[in-house]
This record gives sequence, structure tokens and C-alpha cells, in this order.
Amino acid sequence: MSSSDQALWSRRYARQVVLKGFGAEAQQRLLSARVCVVGVGGLGSPAAMYLAAAGVGQLTLIDEDVVDESNLHRQLLFTTPDVGQPKLDVAAARLRALNPDVQVVLHNTRLTAQNAAALTREHDVVLDATDNFPTRYALNDACLAHGMPLVYGSVARFEGQVSVFAAPGGPCYRCLFPEMPAPGTVPTCAEEGVLGVVPGIVGLLQATEVIKLITQIGEPLVGQLLLLDLLTHDQQRIGIARRAGCSACGSAARTTSDHSSSSPVSRPMVQQLMPAEVAALLAGPNPPVLIDVREAWEVETAQVAGSAHLPLNTLPQQVASLDPSRSYALLCHHGMRSEMAANWLAQQGFTSLINVQGGIDAWSLTVDPGIPRY
Ligand SMILES: [Zn+2]
Repeated sequence: MSSSDQALWSRRYARQVVLKGFGAEAQQRLLSARVCVVGVGGLGSPAAMYLAAAGVGQLTLIDEDVVDESNLHRQLLFTTPDVGQPKLDVAAARLRALNPDVQVVLHNTRLTAQNAAALTREHDVVLDATDNFPTRYALNDACLAHGMPLVYGSVARFEGQVSVFAAPGGPCYRCLFPEMPAPGTVPTCAEEGVLGVVPGIVGLLQATEVIKLITQIGEPLVGQLLLLDLLTHDQQRIGIARRAGCSACGSAARTTSDHSSSSPVSRPMVQQLMPAEVAALLAGPNPPVLIDVREAWEVETAQVAGSAHLPLNTLPQQVASLDPSRSYALLCHHGMRSEMAANWLAQQGFTSLINVQGGIDAWSLTVDPGIPRY
């Protein structure tokens, strides 16, 4: 029994594994997932704690600050004796103590446009817990390049915003905010203040979106901006359409009007099959076309023989080369990116789509042990 199997059946996760619609399968997805949390402050602190507690397999934390006394009213990862210590050191010790199943990876640096793509690759979801615009735009562009969803959150005073950007078919941050505001035109939390509970709530909503994306439950906030006013408890969900002229994702913008600005994103039916079932279909008389949507470096590491390589972020540009009347099976590392690809293809009119559950990792475990795991 692997350590992941042991973790799966531990008492730690009993209250969520027992949930109808969640179960051992969703817990396994969490235990296999890699989440990158950028910024361990007001948003990142609660998000990282709850994601660690939920059993996310790998949490990567990026931050270069030290704990300041003014952080303590909202950043509950840190306590008074931690003032002056590097945030990452304190966070890592706390999160490892909270849940030893979680591998905590640390990058004591500032994320920039130059290093964003390298720091965020090899994850399933990125959580934007930053407090400045250059980092936010850099993250958006890196996530678009990776075809990786970006769970966005921001707070000011008594208000918060949450959304999911850069998911296939959905808008990106630049669709909503095309231009970076000039320095000094938007006041910071340091200047205008924030009530401590507000980033706590917004950070946990971000953690919720991460869990939903990984476990494929519920309706993630793709194409939706959630606005919260905690003074009145007014909540609004605003539809955000992908913008054809967007400088980041516009070249791939769709011209169809199926992305209604007011209705929730539709969830088309995609057949979920285990690797062994897909392998049997591939050996049968009418095999589906197996498409691997991972990135090039991943395909170089491990590959299912006979699969076609079509990285997720190139799908909108390359969809014209596919035949909507054919059957396609989508494959990635753990089954999440491939499901997004399949859902997106379904929205484009493809009718015979299979998601390979558990991805190439499950394929290696259950079909072909000759395929390296990574
Ligand atoms: Zn965009």
C-alpha cells in the first residue's frame, strides 16, 4: 500500500470522504494534486491552511516577506513570536504539523514576469494570493501559457472578489482588466486598510474553488466574478465574457455566442472512463483518437504509445484540425486538464468525448507499469 493509499483511508479525511458526491475518488484527486499558492499573506494564509488540511498532495508556496506585527490580525498562519521570521519557514513548519501527508515546497522569492512561468509549471491549479498588479498580470499570462486555471481573489476594506481565470474557454484576468493600473492609482491595503476577517473569507472561497476544480465537484467560478460586501452581505455574481480583443488570450477568442454573460458555464457530458477501459477501446474495432493535452516536457518524460500530442493551451488554435464527428479520448497527468479539454471540446460541438480518469499516472499504475511516473 502506498503512502497515498494509506492517507486516503486515514481518519483525517473521514468527514469529507463520507460526503455524497465527494468520496474516496475526490480525496484521491486531492492527494495527487499540486497547488501553487502565490503570496502567503492575508489570502494565502487561510487558503494554504485549509488546502493542507483537506489533503492537497503538494502545496508550493511563493513569498519572500518576513512576518510583521501588522500582519497578525489577518494572517493566522503566524503568531506573535514569529514576528521577524521568514514567512515561508513559519508557514512550512505549521502546515507540515497540520498535515504530514502534504509535501510543502518553498520558493523564497518574488514572482515576476520573468520567473512566473517557471515557478508555476508542474501544478494543477494556481491560487493568486498576491497584493500587487505586476504579479497578478504575470501570473495570468503564465497560467494561460500552461493552460492552468488561476483562482483569483482580492480584497479591499470590507469587500472582496473571487473568480477563476485562464481555464480553457473561459476569460482571463486581462479580459476583465486589460490594462495594468498606473502605480499609485489604486490604493493598497496598507493605505486604505482591510478588516481582518475579509481576506480570511475570500482566501477560503479561493481554497473552495481550488478544491472544486481538483475534485470536479460543483460549478467553478469560470466566467463569473463573485463580488462580496461583508458589511451588508450583499453578494453578486457577474458574468465575464472572454474578450475578443484581449491582448493575452484574444487570438484564441471564440466568435460563437455560447458564452452567455449571465448564465453559469454549462457542463456538457463527457464520458469518464478508467485507463483500462480506454485501453480496451483503443484495442477494439472503432478506437477513439487518444489526445495527450500535457506539455511537451511531460510527454518527453512519459507517454502512452499511439497518443497524439496537443497541449491544452494550443487546443483553441488547433481545434480546426480535429473532426467533431470522431471520438476522442483526452489524457493528461491526473485527469483534470484533460477533463477541461473535453468539456471545452464538447462546447465546440464535439459529441463523442472521453476523459481518461486519473490520467497517465493511473495508466502507469493500472495498465502499463513501463510508463514512468513523475
Ligand atoms: Zn483574456
